[in-house]
Amino acid sequence: MADDLEQRLSEVRARIAAAARSAGRDPDEVTAIVVTKFQPLDLVTRLHALGVRDFGESRHPESRDKAAALPDATWHFIGQLQTNKARQVARYADAVHSVDRAGLVEALAGQDVDVLLQVDLGTGERGRGGARPGEVPGLAEQVLDAGLRLRGVMTVAPVGVPPAAAFAALRMVSDRVRAVAPEASWISAGMSGDYEEAVAAGATHLRIGSAITGPRPTA
Ligand SMILES: *Cc1c(COP(=O)(O)O)cnc(C)c1O
Repeated sequence: MADDLEQRLSEVRARIAAAARSAGRDPDEVTAIVVTKFQPLDLVTRLHALGVRDFGESRHPESRDKAAALPDATWHFIGQLQTNKARQVARYADAVHSVDRAGLVEALAGQDVDVLLQVDLGTGERGRGGARPGEVPGLAEQVLDAGLRLRGVMTVAPVGVPPAAAFAALRMVSDRVRAVAPEASWISAGMSGDYEEAVAAGATHLRIGSAITGPRPTA
């Protein structure tokens, strides 16, 4: 219901602000991206009416259709991206948070899009995408060579690792990236279950879905 949506949004915003203040940070440094994947356009429109301007989506062409309906918003593509869809996504996405391999950098080369490098901080098999930390500085150089705007780094805290430890590790990867690209200061981390820890660890962009939207419809 509309009232519930507004209430969840303002509660999450208040918790972000409180987490920022207790970390000695200015709440305005932190952008909450509302993740609307699988949600109907109607819900996106209601969030827009409540003042949300940053949206996260993970599937093309669902994301394209929503971006076309609300062109004044900022669209963050946060899902795993197939190389053969990269150019299409770059046409409407303002930022792609999930760049994790050389082939994807090549596919995006020359496009007018912000790029974040997704980092896999898990210990075992690759799960939800991401480059290993050691691969990230090299990828950062490739992004710059490809004429793309490198904005920073992104992670999904891996299962089985305390989020605070994962976000601290991401912060170290971010430091290494900024040694190559000083302007790449975005740290995209934190979801519904761990966004306060992400704020404490220095995240600049949070990707929050269900805590604001309620449960996602099943695919
Ligand atoms: C779905 C998703 C989110 C949001 O997840 P919630 O738990 O609903 O907040 C954040 N980041 C990525 C990469 C996602 O795929």
